[in-house]
Amino acid sequence: MNQQIRQLSLDVANKIAAGEVVERPASVVKELVENAIDAGATRIEISCTAGGKEKIQVTDNGHGIRAAEAALAWERHATSKISDTKDLFCIRTLGFRGEALPSIAAVSDVQMLTRHHSEEMGTYLELRAGRVVAQRPQMCPVGTTITVNNLFYNTPARYKFLKSTASERRYIIDLVSHLALSNHQVAFRLVMDDEQVLFAQGTGKLSDAVLAVYGAEVASKMLPVEHRLGPYGMSGLIGRPEIARGNRSFQSLFVNGRFVQDSLIRAAVEKAYRELLPVKRFPVVVLNLTVPPDMVDVNVHPAKAEVRFKDESQIFRLVIGGIQRVFQEQQLIRPFELAPYQPPPKPSSPAQRAMDYGASTGGYVMRDKNPIIEEKPVEIPKTPEPAGTPGDLTVVGQLWDTYILIADRETLWLIDQHAAAERIHYDKLKAQWARSLEAGLARQALVVPIPLDPPLAQGELIREQLERLGRLGFVVEPFGQASFLVREIPVALEMLRSSPKDVEAIIEELVQEIQEEDWENRALASIACRAALKANYQLERREMLSLVQRLKETANPYTCPHGRPVLLELSRKEVEKNFARR
Ligand code: ADP
Ligand code: MG
Repeated sequence: MNQQIRQLSLDVANKIAAGEVVERPASVVKELVENAIDAGATRIEISCTAGGKEKIQVTDNGHGIRAAEAALAWERHATSKISDTKDLFCIRTLGFRGEALPSIAAVSDVQMLTRHHSEEMGTYLELRAGRVVAQRPQMCPVGTTITVNNLFYNTPARYKFLKSTASERRYIIDLVSHLALSNHQVAFRLVMDDEQVLFAQGTGKLSDAVLAVYGAEVASKMLPVEHRLGPYGMSGLIGRPEIARGNRSFQSLFVNGRFVQDSLIRAAVEKAYRELLPVKRFPVVVLNLTVPPDMVDVNVHPAKAEVRFKDESQIFRLVIGGIQRVFQEQQLIRPFELAPYQPPPKPSSPAQRAMDYGASTGGYVMRDKNPIIEEKPVEIPKTPEPAGTPGDLTVVGQLWDTYILIADRETLWLIDQHAAAERIHYDKLKAQWARSLEAGLARQALVVPIPLDPPLAQGELIREQLERLGRLGFVVEPFGQASFLVREIPVALEMLRSSPKDVEAIIEELVQEIQEEDWENRALASIACRAALKANYQLERREMLSLVQRLKETANPYTCPHGRPVLLELSRKEVEKNFARR
């Protein structure tokens, strides 16, 4: 019981540190590629087997490592990039901790072949579980090749936590895509299981990297952005609103060339686009912020995807300002004169907020002339209503093509037609789902299958989720190397059968949601949203009444599946009080 305090052995210490730096194969790729970039490489080749679980190899043509330092590089806190703490506050290289190589070596078998540009002869080095087991001179070109075999073979608990090969592949593809976008002067080749999945030529032009990563369609719809604010700068490419996606996976943000997942920048981007995109559509952007090294802290986490800015409000203004200037130049933002009428001042009551939401869904436009609610013969109830439900409903009318006004003797209701339709569809889909968990939603075969040609990472995501997509009613088949064919779609989304773009968009939204917790409800809500009648659509009285009748039959007529309100109530009492009749 009475344990003595002991220093951990180097082996154990390294394995613990490895847990911080090396979470999965993609983290190994990240560290090796960043080292290659720091070494000034202009060509980097990455090859992986079995999602990197069996083998990861990175070859670069950087400056290489001197024979005398080859073994040292694999020791803890050995780095050529900083020498004292003062450097820590001014980091210009990607690596700086001197932790990556020893951490990787601690949990795998490693071989390295490297030659420094100033030396004639290269070095071959082999490590097992962090210890050098072979070292000898060997001829090779200038540069470095590191091969990592059997990752986590000696830490079974870690190995067990790896995801499927398909998921690990996707992490690597995502990562290399980001690296290629942020280092467009470097040529990248990514080979997975002997198949080339990405090749960026490293022309130095961001648009070429975007073409390699996202494909021609996206690349042709990107607008350059270049903006400065005080000591800060932002440059990159931003997507026209029409290529917005169903999820955020097409947003690549960098700070001083380093990939970041930063909610501040993301919020600024989305705010800048807000007017131009319907809800649940996310812009495509590739943005690099240049921030003086002493104004940003990258030392937040070993995986280094987080940063902290000294002046957040300036960063926010920089991003919004830059993007909106492009929109103005491109005249994507309508000039103010087009909207001469000022709406009356808004009380900021919950009621008003609910209305604001409805108005903001105005971005959806109906393609089809038929409203997307079922034509159910309207039965005006002859029998008395059960207690608590409104009887003798009168349709007062439709307000702003978006809200249904309905009243009985005591109450006036304003119903958001989209939210109501969404609730109705959602309940129906849920019932279907509960009835047949295995088979999933009712499907309808397409006479002409819809081809999908998604960018790489997106394709991987789809490939991984074919089964769940099938249960949601989308039968998707791999077609060739990177394409798919959609053969069946859910009956609920029948009206999308002749609009491939919308089918692609909803699939994109779904594959994202499938990753998340509570995916079933989220996915059903998304399908319900697509299936539902939109705002800004004129309804006939008959249709309004039918919608209201069916809303009454749902489990919860008060909120849509996303939790937003469906209806507002105004009692006769309140009205009379406001007119000073009471
Ligand atoms: P860090 O990158 O934080 O310095 P690493 O453990 O990743 O720490 O690497 C240790 C050192 O090994 C680096 O500082 C660098 O000098 C050297 N090194 C690693 N990879 C390469 C490479 N591909 N080319 C040249 N030198 C490298
Ligand atoms: Mg490094």
